[in-house]
This record gives sequence, structure tokens and C-alpha cells, in this order.
Amino acid sequence: MDQMHVEGDLDLDQTLYSEAEIVTRLKEMATQIESDYEGKDLLLVGVLKGAVMVMADLARSLDRHVEMDWMAVSSYGSGTQSSGVVRILKDLDTDLSGRHVLIVEDIIDTGLTLSWLITNLRSRGPASVEIATLLRKPEAQRMDVDVKYVGFDIPNAFVVGYGLDYDERYRNLRCIGTLSPHVYS
Ligand code: 5GP
Repeated sequence: MDQMHVEGDLDLDQTLYSEAEIVTRLKEMATQIESDYEGKDLLLVGVLKGAVMVMADLARSLDRHVEMDWMAVSSYGSGTQSSGVVRILKDLDTDLSGRHVLIVEDIIDTGLTLSWLITNLRSRGPASVEIATLLRKPEAQRMDVDVKYVGFDIPNAFVVGYGLDYDERYRNLRCIGTLSPHVYS
């Protein structure tokens, strides 16, 4: 879906990144990942549902073999806030023992969901666990967890598109934009 199809509703305040800008940045991240994991097996773990588009474009930008697996977690948030209390809705099919795991995320806000996820995955005996996220909000920069690959650092606003939803809408928007407060207030 293109922006023109939502602008009629005045839902999007501002476009932050176009599809072309996102894909270019993911290609740069992929080049770095290829170099860092040279000679190593790599398992990409996507976090449903928001990371679907990031995973699809990042994985296709990698000029090497990778495996992909998926987790679905619920952070017990409501509306536009996450609580950090996490429940697994769908677990991985892959045994992580000895594997190099790269978590693929759409966005890190407070980092609460991610902190929980890293602890959980590290307890399964992987060789390494790192994080790649397309977007990172300011609060996440203050958290303890080291995020190895960041696409864009963004301001503290609620964004939608490219996998990110508000109430399950806007995931199929090609760009990433800020949502007008009137939509969720
Ligand atoms: P955290 O635990 O880092 O605060 O939040 C993680 C999750 O909250 C993300 O994976 C995403 O599902 C949701 N989230 C945080 N900020 C945003 C945002 O600006 N837009 C959307 N659509 N979801 C967000």
C-alpha cells in the first residue's frame, strides 16, 4: 500500500523513510553482517509480526546462506505502550545450541521486550546472540543491551508502516511514517 491510500484519512503526520531509503539502509546493514559472520552459520530470528518486512528485505540483501525462524511474543501492552511483561505465543522450531543467532526486530522503544527475549534465547546455549533492528527510539539508547545493527535512530513518536501497525492496520504501508495523534488518542 502506498501513502496516497492513507493520506485521504489524514492518518499520517509525516513520512520518515521511503521504501527506497529503507531498502538502501538494509543493504548497508547486510554488507556489515556478511563481513561480521564470514565463515559462520547464521540463524535469523524474526519477531512476529512487525519484523516480517525487515526480515524479508534484510534476508534477501544477504549474499550468503542464512536460516530463518520466527517467534511471536506478546508484551501485554495496550494501545501505544509496551509493558515489558512478555508471553511466548509462538516459539522457535530451531534448537539454538551452538548457533549464531541474530534477532531481527522492527523497532526498539523501551527495550523491555528485547531484554526479555535476549535472556530467554541466551539460556538455550547459542554460540552468540546479537540484535539487528531497523528502528530505535531514544529511550532504547539508554538500555544496557548492546544493539549491534541499527537502521535508523528516530525521534520519540509512534510510527507505522513497513510491518509496524496501529491496531493491526498500516503494516502493509510501504513507507514508515508518524501517526497523527488523533488516530490513537
Ligand atoms: P519495547 O518493549 O522496546 O518498548 O517495544 C517493543 C514493541 O513495541 C515493538 O516490537 C513494537 O511492537 C511496539 N512498538 C514500540 N514503539 C512502536 C511504534 O512507534 N510503533 C509501532 N507500531 N509499534 C511500536
